[in-house]
Amino acid sequence: MRVLICGGGVIGASIAYFLSRRGVAATVVERTGLACAASGKAGGFLALDWCDGTPLEPLARRSFALHDQLAAEIGGDWGYRRLTTYGGSTGLGRRSKFHGIGWLSSGVAVRQHLGSTATTAQVHPERFTAAMMRAAQAQGAELRLGKVTGVVRRKSGAAVAGVEVEGEVVEGDAVVIAMGPWAILAADWLPLPAVFGLKGHSLVFETGGQVPAEALFLECREANGTLQTPELFPRADGTTYVCAISSESPLPIDPARVTPDPGALERLQAMCSELSPVLAAARIVARQACYRPITRDGLPLIGQVTGVEGAYIATGHSVWGILNAPATGEAMAELIVDGAAPSTDLSAFDPARLPPFRGRLSP
Ligand SMILES: Cc1cc2nc3c(=O)[nH]c(=O)nc-3n(C[C@H](O)[C@H](O)[C@H](O)COP(=O)(O)OP(=O)(O)OC[C@H]3O[C@@H](n4cnc5c(N)ncnc54)[C@H](O)[C@@H]3O)c2cc1C
Repeated sequence: MRVLICGGGVIGASIAYFLSRRGVAATVVERTGLACAASGKAGGFLALDWCDGTPLEPLARRSFALHDQLAAEIGGDWGYRRLTTYGGSTGLGRRSKFHGIGWLSSGVAVRQHLGSTATTAQVHPERFTAAMMRAAQAQGAELRLGKVTGVVRRKSGAAVAGVEVEGEVVEGDAVVIAMGPWAILAADWLPLPAVFGLKGHSLVFETGGQVPAEALFLECREANGTLQTPELFPRADGTTYVCAISSESPLPIDPARVTPDPGALERLQAMCSELSPVLAAARIVARQACYRPITRDGLPLIGQVTGVEGAYIATGHSVWGILNAPATGEAMAELIVDGAAPSTDLSAFDPARLPPFRGRLSP
């Protein structure tokens, strides 16, 4: 059996890892570069129980456990570590600093304990994706650079025969669409629900040893009065990642053409300087934007595509794609090989729950 995975983000790499672990030949076809999009530019924050009470609960809990297992199972360092997590606010007139976060400005009130080292953790998402792909390759998987331009069907039309990569047919027994927000393009090839992209901006600061392993979720007002919710994740490699400022600017068809909105990173930098003198003085090592993949009901699409044998989709993980990648990969491998996924109940993520996208895609 050969499985063709379209898209080399964290979801595609995780599916390749779990398929190849079961001895299945998996090829990831990636248009631009492994983890070039959200999977390389996300925060990498993981939480055991923040999806509790929602349909994501089993996926998130299984994934949190798998992140821990993978750190022990696969060689390589992707900055996996447990964290303490706090919540707070600034510019809202409250000045009490309950948790004594010394590296923040005095106007930041840190009042909530949101997670402990038992319930919150982090990875460097680009390195995690690369490590999963490397481990998959060590088990026989392939990574191929190329733009998927279509899904090829058998004569009957009822089953897949492979994918078209820039005019060349690559044969396979199963095809997985794992193209993040670009899965919308695959709605031209298969009956798939719409997937959208929501843009986010981030900066990475070189902070050395000045910032402890404590993640922060803050609320603050920009000078123009807009309420923002910056997320700050100090990483094991001596950098600190900060993201905020979402925007609905349109997704470019080419992932290489994703750029920050004009002025957004300057606003984010000004916010960071207000939040912490350490950030104000630190060198910035990355200025970036990326799109998280979202669906109409906010839940991912993980499962078989109705009416086309051998066609699958795994995307729409929104803000939890790094957390939920391992359990998605594990369940997809089970589904493709055995026809059912006992590790995680995927029924809430069945792509058939949403109508196929029938809109026109602009060229
Ligand atoms: C600012 C921000 C912060 C985030 N922070 C976190 C966090 O802390 N924790 C968390 O769990 N999640 C976080 N996320 C969410 C997470 O990043 C995403 O859910 C996840 O990366 C999606 O992975 P993916 O593999 O589905 O998609 P992508 O990473 O978008 O990968 C899709 C891949 O498909 C490729 N592709 C596109 N078209 C084609 C084609 N025609 N042929 C071949 N390949 C193609 C692209 O080049 C790309 O590499 C964050 C997201 C954002 C935007």
